Amino acid sequence: MIVFKFGGASVKDADAVRNVCNIIRGHESNQLVVVVSAMGKTTNALERVVQARFSANDIPSAKQHLQEVREFHHKIADELFVGKSNPVFDRMNNVFVEVEWCLDDDVSKGYDFIYDQVVSSGELLSTIIIHEYLQSQGLHFAYADARDLIRTDNHYREGRVQWEETLDNTTTQINGIFATGHIGVVTQGFIGCTSENYTTTLGREGSDYTASILAYCLDAKAVYIWKDVPGVLNADPKHFPDAQKLESMSYHDAIELAYFGASVIHPKTIKPLENKGIPLHVKSFMDPKLSGTVIGKDFQTKPLVPSYIFKDNQMLISISAKDFSFIAEDHLSTIFSLFAQANVKINLMQNSAISFSVCIDNDVRKVSDLLETLKTRFKILYNEGLQLYTVRHYYPSTIETLSHGKEVLLEQRSRQTAQLVLRSSEK
Ligand code: ASP
Ligand code: MG
Repeated sequence: MIVFKFGGASVKDADAVRNVCNIIRGHESNQLVVVVSAMGKTTNALERVVQARFSANDIPSAKQHLQEVREFHHKIADELFVGKSNPVFDRMNNVFVEVEWCLDDDVSKGYDFIYDQVVSSGELLSTIIIHEYLQSQGLHFAYADARDLIRTDNHYREGRVQWEETLDNTTTQINGIFATGHIGVVTQGFIGCTSENYTTTLGREGSDYTASILAYCLDAKAVYIWKDVPGVLNADPKHFPDAQKLESMSYHDAIELAYFGASVIHPKTIKPLENKGIPLHVKSFMDPKLSGTVIGKDFQTKPLVPSYIFKDNQMLISISAKDFSFIAEDHLSTIFSLFAQANVKINLMQNSAISFSVCIDNDVRKVSDLLETLKTRFKILYNEGLQLYTVRHYYPSTIETLSHGKEVLLEQRSRQTAQLVLRSSEK
């Protein structure tokens, strides 16, 4: 059994869906579990629906945004299925009816709850279309609702997997499907379900994680993530025109890079795979014959070149006690708990006798509250508009090149990883 994950770009229009079908056809000798994300930029479009409903409390405008999502999917379905008799149209309609109910309902359960009920429809729509299309092309695939497989707690927008129930559900359902002669199964990435049967999501870009959860539960032979890049690159080509493809990577390098913000793999993806020694292949859906990148226990990172992660819009906060006392363990534990309560991830930290510096994403919605709370207890200084570079397997010369002509506000090096907080000198 192998698990395939197709991201939004790989199913962004009718041609892309046809291409996915061809890739699947080339792997029919395996039992396939196919995890699919929402089509194209659907998740962003659905976020606008939630914004309109919740933040602006404007139901007609929310429905208008939803109408755009409907038209986008209808256009794709119209191109893939001749005539209106295909069940895909009814199945899609049922999804829209449920979202509309949700929009008409009161919003007392809060933003995150509404978000998950609405935004999850993107994955339901994409899998319905893919499932019906595979059937129409003679590929005998079953459809599984990921909410019957992945059980989470009720932490909406960041559901935490309840592994025992998920393992039970997944093995029973998926093995049952293969026992009835299906050659594969299509299911949604990104979504799960609470014990009270409410839909949750696993965090943006969470479909990779779904693929990895299912692979873990099913003891899959391998996971393939199909992307619009030829594999894992050592840098984002938008910022580094000389980016190189890595042939292979260790789990350790992959988890470090994903953690520090490499967008190619969702950070939670690696752990379940490492725990079972399941290899992860990152391949191009545009050129499936290319070798891609393989990550696994028998692999080292090759070629062993520096890998760069660039984060823009960073804020560096320096926190010190109001009375010039040491920043010691008791202060640090207060500071960490304030960051945790505000749900702000620390990208880099460093301390001196009397101050503690942290670099974070400047996410306005979260940061202003955090700063206010910090200010009641500590003296706070901060800089905005900064860049954070993380370099794994750096050379000393790499650091010099990166910081050339820029002001280095903070620097930290371990044996494998260097991090730099920089300010462009023209600012
Ligand atoms: N559709 C979701 C998102 O765009 C999940 C994913 O793509 O992995 O965040
Ligand atoms: Mg996506």
